[in-house]
Amino acid sequence: MSAVANNVFDVVVSGGGLVGASVALGLADRGLNIALIEPTEHHHQPLPSHDERTLVLNAASLNVLDNLDLLPDDLIRVPVRHIHINRQHGFGHLHLNALEHADLIGEDTDPTRPYFGQVVVARALGQCMLDRLANHPGIQIFCPQALVGFKDGPTHVDVSLDDGTTLSTRVLVGADGTQSLIRQQLGLPVDHHDYSQRAMVFNVAAQKPMPETAFERFTAHGPLALLPQAQGRYGVVWIDETQAIDEALEWSDETLMGALSERFGPRLGGFSKPSPRASYPLIKQHSPQVVSGRVVLVGNAANAVHPVSAQGFNLGLRDVAGLIDALCPALEEDVAQALLAYQRARADDQRATIRYTDTLARAFAHPMGWVRLMGGLGLAAHAASPALTRRLVRAAMGFREPVASLAKKHPNPTRNQQSTQGQPHDRV
Ligand SMILES: Cc1cc2nc3c(=O)[nH]c(=O)nc-3n(C[C@H](O)[C@H](O)[C@H](O)COP(=O)(O)OP(=O)(O)OC[C@H]3O[C@@H](n4cnc5c(N)ncnc54)[C@H](O)[C@@H]3O)c2cc1C
Repeated sequence: MSAVANNVFDVVVSGGGLVGASVALGLADRGLNIALIEPTEHHHQPLPSHDERTLVLNAASLNVLDNLDLLPDDLIRVPVRHIHINRQHGFGHLHLNALEHADLIGEDTDPTRPYFGQVVVARALGQCMLDRLANHPGIQIFCPQALVGFKDGPTHVDVSLDDGTTLSTRVLVGADGTQSLIRQQLGLPVDHHDYSQRAMVFNVAAQKPMPETAFERFTAHGPLALLPQAQGRYGVVWIDETQAIDEALEWSDETLMGALSERFGPRLGGFSKPSPRASYPLIKQHSPQVVSGRVVLVGNAANAVHPVSAQGFNLGLRDVAGLIDALCPALEEDVAQALLAYQRARADDQRATIRYTDTLARAFAHPMGWVRLMGGLGLAAHAASPALTRRLVRAAMGFREPVASLAKKHPNPTRNQQSTQGQPHDRV
């Protein structure tokens, strides 16, 4: 922890979740003095998103994390080389093989063994972040403390914490999640939609695992994703109406395994050894305005998406990379203009990712048969059209322009030499 005179910082980050921790580390690596505020004391209970959920990280996100030194050798990462997408009781099937798209995946993976992305467990990635935060001389952590208010002025922002501490900063970053107090206090408009669904998350052992293969199956109730983990296990994301998930959370393990086999089909044999289950409400939240004066929102505080396309954290990491590009040269100059430029640069990617995810979420779980039929037709069209498939793959890689420097592979040659051990690679 670095001592900073009179609690004056370059940047204060409110929220130490996966996105807040990433932005704090990225800015501190560039030599800025950072304060990070987080109410949850992780020695006593895990941070809200440091749980067993499996995160699929695309190529751009892997670059950001690698450039932040957040992919140590002992972090288990399972590459995804095949993706099967299909519908229960319906037509439409799509098989994506990374080898057929090696040119799009580009320099980032070995061209003879390319992958679409890598799967990590949020808890394990979160632990890497906590380890780096604890040892970073440029970051002072205020935990367990919460931001309760702030006042944005012409030269700095005054920030108040719940124990009466006050901080002064040139920029305040709101990474405080979907309920963002900062967004509420600014009164920024937000487009909110509740899908009236929940995601139940657990992991299981498969009898006949297919290595490095992810599955997304659209059922009449909602999507079901099986994401490959180490040792033949799969992370399951099971989406259904809220009441159905509440009931499923109470099932015995035996009933759950039977229902999973029924919903998924026989492809992986049977399932066994389920982990405990957790569940999450599903919402879409889009903030068209994420900047006000010297205050900026990132991650779920700005935009939250349905997990159907595994994009939420990937989108948040692209926010982090874009914000670092915008802020670092500008901190001594016109911060408010730099933040507005950031907002403009990120708007297209945010809008497109939210629209794409929302369309998928609604098309395949819609109560009206014809809408689901359109979903099936969409899958069939993608299967029949290489051009459509390639567009899908390109978008999923996370390289929509403008691509921020942290999202590119090793922008910094010094780091390049230091980090050969931390490069994205296959770990199973
Ligand atoms: C089931 C499921 C599966 C998912 N799978 C994927 C996937 O495969 N790929 C992907 O990219 N994304 C995925 N996501 C999305 C991803 O988990 C989120 O996008 C990501 O965790 C958001 O991180 P965040 O840091 O923005 O928000 P959060 O994790 O919500 O962190 C916000 C932090 O702010 C803190 N905070 C709150 N109020 C205050 C305050 N007043 N002062 C200070 N701090 C405060 C909180 O304690 C918390 O630690 C999934 C989500 C779910 C639910």
